[in-house]
Amino acid sequence: MAFAQDDRAPERRRMVEEISDMAGVVGGQTGREGIDQRVLDAMGKVPRHEFVPAAQRPSAYRNRPLAIGAGQTISQPYVVALMSDLMQLKPQDTVLEIGTGSGYQAAVLGELVRDVYSVEIVEPLGRQAAAVLGRLGYDNVHTRIGDGYKGWPEHAPYDAIIVTAAPDHVPPALIEQLKPGGRLVIPVGDQFQKLMVITKHEDGTTASEEIVPVQFVPLTRDNDG
Ligand code: SAH
Repeated sequence: MAFAQDDRAPERRRMVEEISDMAGVVGGQTGREGIDQRVLDAMGKVPRHEFVPAAQRPSAYRNRPLAIGAGQTISQPYVVALMSDLMQLKPQDTVLEIGTGSGYQAAVLGELVRDVYSVEIVEPLGRQAAAVLGRLGYDNVHTRIGDGYKGWPEHAPYDAIIVTAAPDHVPPALIEQLKPGGRLVIPVGDQFQKLMVITKHEDGTTASEEIVPVQFVPLTRDNDG
């Protein structure tokens, strides 16, 4: 993307340095050495200020969550970096995101993989995110409005899936829609959650790993089951 040179680029560079430093400190806790350079480079490119409401723009490059309307929040940049890193993405991958929100995480993924499919349940948020992604030229990020508990079966299977709202259990459809060898990165729990990485083996069985405690908005459900 051609946005690395806008007037917020210096702030964005500092944000990326902060994430990188934080990853070094938190490293012991997550069991990770640091954040993959490809992920840091992607975060250095995506204009986060374009994804937040005007009132939040001055704070767009602070390493903290921000309100995006409809009672929802855009995750702290460090958490976006950590979750993207845990997905272990390759350039040719196709990935699914549940919880488009502002579209920021989807844009970061769009820098890292071939195709991103992202589902949002709150229509105005989904529409706004699609508009920003379109304006910025993220043609490889595809969005729809719906209940992500059921995934997006039409484009499955996915190399990796990220969930950015918290269910109290792992949605079975998401395991089904994961490729063998694929990874699901998801916060699971009620008020406080654990960030989990669930790996699907070639034989269809799964293994799960708890990474860190996190706090996300709850995954809500359509009432059609
Ligand atoms: N990834 C987003 C942050 C998302 S906040 C970003 O980068 O901005 C969590 C989002 O998940 C909210 O927008 C919320 O409306 C959405 N959400 C909650 N339950 C959902 C569901 N069942 N399906 C799809 N989206 C859901």
